[in-house]
Amino acid sequence: MQPQFFEVRPSSNARSADEREGLIKDPGFGKIFTDHMATAIWTRGRGWHSAHIGARRSFSIDPAAGVLHYAQEIFEGMKAYRRDDGRINLFRPEQNARRFNASARRMAMPDVPEDLFLAAVESLVDIDREWIPRGDGSLYIRPFMFASEAFLGVRPADEFIFCVIASPAGAYFKSGKRAVTLWVSDHLNRAGPGGTGAAKCGGNYAASLLAQAEAYEQDCDQVVFLDAVEHRWVDELGGMNLFFVFDDGRVVTPPLGGTILPGITRASIIELLRQRGTEVAEEPYAIDQWEDDARSGKLKEAFACGTAAVVTAVGRVKSRNGDWAVGQGDEGTFTAAIRSELLGIQCGLVEGPAGWVRPVGL
Ligand SMILES: *Cc1c(COP(=O)(O)O)cnc(C)c1O
Repeated sequence: MQPQFFEVRPSSNARSADEREGLIKDPGFGKIFTDHMATAIWTRGRGWHSAHIGARRSFSIDPAAGVLHYAQEIFEGMKAYRRDDGRINLFRPEQNARRFNASARRMAMPDVPEDLFLAAVESLVDIDREWIPRGDGSLYIRPFMFASEAFLGVRPADEFIFCVIASPAGAYFKSGKRAVTLWVSDHLNRAGPGGTGAAKCGGNYAASLLAQAEAYEQDCDQVVFLDAVEHRWVDELGGMNLFFVFDDGRVVTPPLGGTILPGITRASIIELLRQRGTEVAEEPYAIDQWEDDARSGKLKEAFACGTAAVVTAVGRVKSRNGDWAVGQGDEGTFTAAIRSELLGIQCGLVEGPAGWVRPVGL
């Protein structure tokens, strides 16, 4: 099979332009889906085959499929942006392709050749391009792969399905507010040394949901997870990396040590800040230090980042032992500036580093 070739079979029941426009006016996040999906199958001994774009539909998988029992599953999250000139941008998609394969290796799954991954994403975006909202919306793209072999023995599966779906997106956080409140998870861990924290796998999210439910009970928006050994060092949120901005201009983000997901937004922000001469330290930051620095005013701002919510200010942190505000408890100027710079690059309004945006369908 030519890996770059996805046979395109347009859906015969794609929604009308009117219906589509109604749906993408206020899409929220992750609730509305486009008309098509990309799929390919991997079978041991044969490799990747049956790659095609077709109508979005339900899977029919065996009740003994590996993913349903042993959670052999990974995913990616990326976005397509509509530019003012009508063209469409992807943001560093080859980074997603590389990370997908890093996740695959950790989960004993087959590599998806980079050109197959990119062809799936680009062909899907191209056929469903009218689903990209205008204005500040975007098309959220979700590539994923799971074990589809029917077999209850415990070993890496012999058959996998790779799929890409897409969902028009507005603002990620329901309330659309400017700063989120975090709940410190002091006893539930997301990832530990030697575990799967650096892989983008569904299992990590399953492990984070109870803490997320606790956060909601505490009127918080998101969970901040600490390291699993000392419960002292700040790791990340359930699905976003963290940055801290200090009064002397220094910026700190926790280091990638295997328990943190290496965010592409994180890496891009580090690169942009360093380029303009800001000192960015990738070093451990303790939760009690966070509280002290926030109270003394040494810490000016904190923000979370990831593809879905881009850059989001942290206004408040709540823990079992009390809570504290960060800065003014609102979005600060540093956070606002880095968010608009990044969004500007992604939408093609601001010139970013060479190769960061990739036009689709040209
Ligand atoms: C996807 C993800 C991120 C953010 O990664 P981006 O590449 O910036 O979208 C951060 N943490 C976790 C746990 C994630 O799954």
